[in-house]
Amino acid sequence: MGAGGCATQGAVAEDFVRFVRELFLSDQPIPLHAPLFTGREKEYLLDAIDSTFVSSVGRYVDRFEAECAVYTGAKYAVATVNGTSALHVALLLAGVKQDEEVITQALTFVATCNAIHYCGAEPVFIDVDKTSLGLSAQALADYLDKFAGIRNGETRNKQTGKRIAACVPMHTFGHSADMPGIIEVCEKYHIPVVEDAAEALGSTLHGRHCGTFGRLGVLSFNGNKIMTTGGGGMILTDDEQLAKQAKHLTTTAKLPHPWQFMHDQIGFNYRMPNLNAALGVAQLECLSEFLIKKRELAARYIDWCGRNRWQCVVEPEAACSNYWLNALVLEDEAARDAFLTVTNEQGVMTRPVWEPMHRLPMYRHCQKDSLVNTEWAAARVVNIPSSVI
Ligand SMILES: *Cc1c(COP(=O)(O)O)cnc(C)c1O
Repeated sequence: MGAGGCATQGAVAEDFVRFVRELFLSDQPIPLHAPLFTGREKEYLLDAIDSTFVSSVGRYVDRFEAECAVYTGAKYAVATVNGTSALHVALLLAGVKQDEEVITQALTFVATCNAIHYCGAEPVFIDVDKTSLGLSAQALADYLDKFAGIRNGETRNKQTGKRIAACVPMHTFGHSADMPGIIEVCEKYHIPVVEDAAEALGSTLHGRHCGTFGRLGVLSFNGNKIMTTGGGGMILTDDEQLAKQAKHLTTTAKLPHPWQFMHDQIGFNYRMPNLNAALGVAQLECLSEFLIKKRELAARYIDWCGRNRWQCVVEPEAACSNYWLNALVLEDEAARDAFLTVTNEQGVMTRPVWEPMHRLPMYRHCQKDSLVNTEWAAARVVNIPSSVI
């Protein structure tokens, strides 16, 4: 990393712009991530319209769920309107309740924390690993060893007296967090793991798909993700009971009956519509090709960084990443801002990683550890154009 003075950095940024334009063969503005519809999307969408089943009941929803289960290796998959609602329901099913605490990383997209808040719980922010940018198993162990107490099989935070109800690692940019390490720590403290795998469809660790390590996992099919249903999400689990409850809760908790409207609890209207699922089935057919092209693009960026002595985020050991968003690690905040200015001015979209959650007004008061790696990454990491070419 770091090729020296500002002048050199600036020249390298200019060179980066040229390189990206060559990669994408375009003199138009280059977005961070654009969806690609070159499969059977239109055919399936028209078929869904012709069937009149455009809403939350339909063949494509069932098919999309079954195919996502097969693809990820999860026993069950339940489709939802978006990744945030999938996270919300997954947390409820993991047992998260009002006035409890949920451990997660500060380096994440705001939806992770919002879903925790929808349950009436508070996030606790733990640091990430410097390489994977996912929740650090060591930081998690350090925090729990210091502040957690187990009583009657329940883990409470000794500082607040509140129950620590779940842990939500997130697979940043599609790079797997250290799931075996995180699960080992959480098992010791009887804390269920809910994986935010919203960015990690197609990513594995030790050959196992992200989102299938924890009790529940969540995917997103938002328009900016590796494949899209327009808007959509998926709850993954190996537990039949949890899968049944997920389907029940996301369909207004309606009891199956030919005509009667009977609901046995407060549910949600979170079911994925058939139209979106039709898009999903078509996109899933293209996913393996997307993954190959994503990894080719990542290899080009890694090669460019090597030649220019810049650092980029690469897949962790034993992982195979989907490289949803490629990322550079710049020398410091000033170098980052200079890079963001040059590239965006020239129509090559780049952006800093999310403002870390502990700095947002609504989560500023939450507990946190030192967050050294989070602060380090927040000042240096930028995302660069990553669409499938
Ligand atoms: C995209 C994303 C979500 C939310 O997904 P939506 O489908 O947009 O609701 C949650 N967490 C992370 C880390 C994400 O990147």
